[in-house]
Amino acid sequence: MKTVTLHDKTFGLCISSAEIQAAVDRVAMAIIEDMKDSCPLFLVVLNGAFMFAGDLFKRINFNCEVTFMKLASYQGTESTGMVKKLIGLSESIEGRDVVIIEDIVDSGITMENMLNELYILQPASIRIASCLFKPASFTKKFKIDYVGFSIPNDFIVGYGLDYDGLGRNLPDIYKIN
Ligand code: 5GP
Ligand code: MG
Repeated sequence: MKTVTLHDKTFGLCISSAEIQAAVDRVAMAIIEDMKDSCPLFLVVLNGAFMFAGDLFKRINFNCEVTFMKLASYQGTESTGMVKKLIGLSESIEGRDVVIIEDIVDSGITMENMLNELYILQPASIRIASCLFKPASFTKKFKIDYVGFSIPNDFIVGYGLDYDGLGRNLPDIYKIN
């Protein structure tokens, strides 16, 4: 099996680039169907979602805007349970249809924090598109509107996701051995 080594850990291939691209097609088609008439604001959560967002936007064929927020909650392979905001939102979302673009929803703590903050700013609606979702560790109630893959509770890297800074550039997704 194809493996990669990052720092002290080895990871095995889990989702191929071709499978990811097919999932992005599916997510994009669903978003186009739902949002094509609303000129939504896509809000990308950095760093992890940059690759998913880039692939997704190439498929979005209607008028929309894109902005970025930067959050961090992981250290190594463990969630710290605390979310740090490193770059905040620079524009108004009042009255806008917002689509949050995330790499992965794990416990849901990061996303719930973000939703609470965003709802105060009175958007017309908020939807969530996440490339990956770990249902077994999800502890929250909010709905994820668009999911690329539901995956088991393993630590993964690649396609934007890192292990201590490494692995974000990998076009496939790997899970820890
Ligand atoms: P949550 O707050 O939902 O527990 O975690 C969300 C954030 O933790 C994600 O946006 C992502 O940055 C990071 N994260 C969660 N699971 C993984 C994983 O398996 N691998 C990596 N590299 N990051 C993860
Ligand atoms: Mg993230």
